[in-house]
Amino acid sequence: MTSTLNRPTPSSNVEPMNDDQRGIISALKSFLKNKVEPGAAERDQTSEFPMQIVKELGDMGIMGAQTPEEYGGTGLDTATFAMIIEEIAAVDGSLCLTVASHNSLCQGHILVGGTEAQKQKFLPALASAAKLGAWGLTEPGSGSDSGGLQTRAAEQPDGSWILNGSKNFITQGSVGGTYVILARTDAAREGKGKNDGISAFVFNRDEVTGFSIGRKEDKLGLRSSDTAQLIFEDIHLPADALLGERGNAFKDVMKVLDGGRVGIAAMGLGLGRAAFEYAAKYTLERQQFGKPIALNQNISFRLADMDTKLEAARLLIRKAADLKDAGMNFTAAVARAKLYATTVGVEACDEAIQMLGGYGYVKEYPVERFWRDNRLTRIGEGTDEVQRLVISRDVLKRFAQ
Ligand SMILES: Cc1cc2nc3c(=O)[nH]c(=O)nc-3n(C[C@H](O)[C@H](O)[C@H](O)COP(=O)(O)OP(=O)(O)OC[C@H]3O[C@@H](n4cnc5c(N)ncnc54)[C@H](O)[C@@H]3O)c2cc1C
Repeated sequence: MTSTLNRPTPSSNVEPMNDDQRGIISALKSFLKNKVEPGAAERDQTSEFPMQIVKELGDMGIMGAQTPEEYGGTGLDTATFAMIIEEIAAVDGSLCLTVASHNSLCQGHILVGGTEAQKQKFLPALASAAKLGAWGLTEPGSGSDSGGLQTRAAEQPDGSWILNGSKNFITQGSVGGTYVILARTDAAREGKGKNDGISAFVFNRDEVTGFSIGRKEDKLGLRSSDTAQLIFEDIHLPADALLGERGNAFKDVMKVLDGGRVGIAAMGLGLGRAAFEYAAKYTLERQQFGKPIALNQNISFRLADMDTKLEAARLLIRKAADLKDAGMNFTAAVARAKLYATTVGVEACDEAIQMLGGYGYVKEYPVERFWRDNRLTRIGEGTDEVQRLVISRDVLKRFAQ
């Protein structure tokens, strides 16, 4: 049962690419095959964070993929970033979440809200992966309703800040070097809603005291990505740690999450694609009732549906990425892309398990890991239901006119 499984994977659906993209993806694929794939299943078991691999991705320019070259990044467009994320997800979901969040959330927020001095100070070390970036919005009492956060920063007479509170589920929480943290600094102004009065702060962990790591999460999947609780006890931050406009960080948070959702959508697609490709090869190999199981239409038609849905997801992601790069509003477009790509991506993993039968359910085969890893994409950076809130608002606005 190995000859077909070892053949190179046809992945024509990821085309069209331009020559630059083909070069980047080809080099990345070879790195993933040689350095990442061999240990992915073991890291899923041990939960070991792949620091050395992350540093090598830093050397390759992947950890600052969309950060402009003047700040040490690679300055790629969003469509190319989505292709990169899809490829990494197709090999190692945990590594993919690390790369996606480090790029889109931490660096994304500094790019959206940072002063020139903040960009110069923080971005080069992040883009090279000398420091890993974390972004803290979620708290024990506030997830989807993120404006309900309780972490507070109090301004001091000299303009500095004292930060107190905690954050939950923070990716790179315990391995991070640079943190962007959302906190309430002011009461919401009359008529502005509770998201008003929230500010963002950026700091290096080794430059503060009062910062500690709480629980490290024991997760269903993405087990070698780092997810931890953060605790802030009287952290003293300088005045220039304020990132963006005081009390008005929520509009930047929304922009950061829109950008992040391109990555999570591509992650859902990549894991779904990996499961689909494994199932297609397996069902051509596996014989039951005297023929490959793929020759039953019930299997081949389901493969056709998976292929079509994954391709449609890729096109929705491409549209959102292109709108973002054109400087147009892409909030609803990326919500559609994330909702659809993660739904069909998880569905493809589930179908792959079914097509492998009992072999789909055991750890010797990778499809159960793809399913466990992919399940997060329907929750993180806005659940399915939050995407539907965004899309339905867009629909109602269009038809109320
Ligand atoms: C592995 C992992 C990594 C993460 N990384 C980060 C990170 O780096 N930074 C960070 O800030 N956060 C991070 N998160 C947090 C993540 O963004 C939240 O878990 C997510 O936003 C959902 O919040 P919650 O878990 O509190 O669920 P809740 O908001 O409590 O939602 C529970 C359920 O209720 C539904 N629901 C809530 N409100 C509504 C509504 N109005 N209408 C219909 N349904 C609703 C939700 O869709 C969901 O199904 C991470 C989480 C995980 C598991």
